[in-house]
Amino acid sequence: MVCPACGHPTKTLETRRSEGGAAVRRRRSCPGCGERFTTFERREALTVRKRGGRRQPFDRAKLLAGLVRACHKRDVDPRELEAIVAEVERQGRRDGGEIGAERIGLLCLQGLETLDRGAFLQFAGTLPEPIPADLENPRNYGASEGAVSVRSEEDAARSIPTGAKERARGDS
Ligand SMILES: [Zn+2]
Repeated sequence: MVCPACGHPTKTLETRRSEGGAAVRRRRSCPGCGERFTTFERREALTVRKRGGRRQPFDRAKLLAGLVRACHKRDVDPRELEAIVAEVERQGRRDGGEIGAERIGLLCLQGLETLDRGAFLQFAGTLPEPIPADLENPRNYGASEGAVSVRSEEDAARSIPTGAKERARGDS
């Protein structure tokens, strides 16, 4: 890195772990003019490619909040939702730091589908795209399926937008 004051190549004086290991902090010095400054090295931020082609920073908290909302009154372990978000981040980083909004939606649906059908349908109702054909029919749920009460199933169905509700009715 060159000196911000004079443009001369700089030397690293000290390298340290920072932010609990999430960043590397470097103290730098310029042999040309004596300027000293600090740089931080962090993992590249994840970018979301929106449906219109617009890009914005990936908002982990917002995605997690959306999943939590879909699981309202459902018997879903919050750690499972964290795992879905982590998978979205993993895929985005694998694809070079950018991920499409449709792909995020699909990954969330795939994750929810194995956890809870009601949460799956609820989340699907928040997406602009229809449910992908290969996810439309319920598959095998885990052992937790027995714990979902009929009452909460009805609650979820009531709050699902019309399109998804029709699909839900077909399932039951
Ligand atoms: Zn300098």
